Amino acid sequence: MIKRISKNIASNIIFARRRIAKSKILDKESCRILAYHAIESSDPSKDLMGLAVLPSVFEMHMRYLKEEGFCVIGLLDLAESLRKGIAPPKRSIVITFDDGYKSILTNAMPIVKKFDFKATLFVNIYFLEQKLPKHVYWHSWQTLDWGDLIKLGQAGFSIGSHALTHKRLTEIDREALIGEIAGSRETIEKNIHDKIYAFSFPHGKYTNETKNILKQEGFLCACSSVNGINDKNADIFTLKRTEITGFDDSPIKFEKKLLGCYDWLGSFNFYASNVA
Ligand SMILES: [Zn+2]
Repeated sequence: MIKRISKNIASNIIFARRRIAKSKILDKESCRILAYHAIESSDPSKDLMGLAVLPSVFEMHMRYLKEEGFCVIGLLDLAESLRKGIAPPKRSIVITFDDGYKSILTNAMPIVKKFDFKATLFVNIYFLEQKLPKHVYWHSWQTLDWGDLIKLGQAGFSIGSHALTHKRLTEIDREALIGEIAGSRETIEKNIHDKIYAFSFPHGKYTNETKNILKQEGFLCACSSVNGINDKNADIFTLKRTEITGFDDSPIKFEKKLLGCYDWLGSFNFYASNVA
């Protein structure tokens, strides 16, 4: 609770200052990548990390982006520009979802399409195959199946890998690491009949070896869980992201995230930026 209060106080102070310079901050040539998980209702007594965002709140976020003139671009388009040393467009945003919850198809996809935006979904094989222990509350949420991924691909979503088992990639040996990266890529590609090029690190954890294996395996970019924006000097294999949670349930709270009021957290406590 103390952590939550101090984070809110710090972010409010930053917000008060940044809001005055809002246009200047947002009009920098940099891209903010939003990281969502599930788009559905959840039990607030259990979902203390706010991993589920209500569909109505998600729609409010998308409407805010549209009305405030943000430029929603595809993740691979961003990676390609950065690879060429080209700065991202002003006010650019990339939308991503981690894990592979069913609600991305049933709730998020129609809203993304309604606003004519692009999005990337990072799927974890153990989520899709329901091999994760159910005592962790979000493991009990309904997940996508392979047919759903094909439907999402047809709806314009780009599919990426979020590894095989959802283990921290910093805690396994090289052989297992190759299995997580190459194994997940092969399984996804076999089932969706398409190539994939983007990766997101489970729990945001990575090493230089992880990055090297990703490059060897033909990936073109990877998303970390470090808070922040990506300018033309960004490392395309550790792109920064901004987690959007169920607590970002008003335009002002969403605006705080877009203005980078939590960027000072860096990689600290990514999944709990609003939680005690
Ligand atoms: Zn995850």
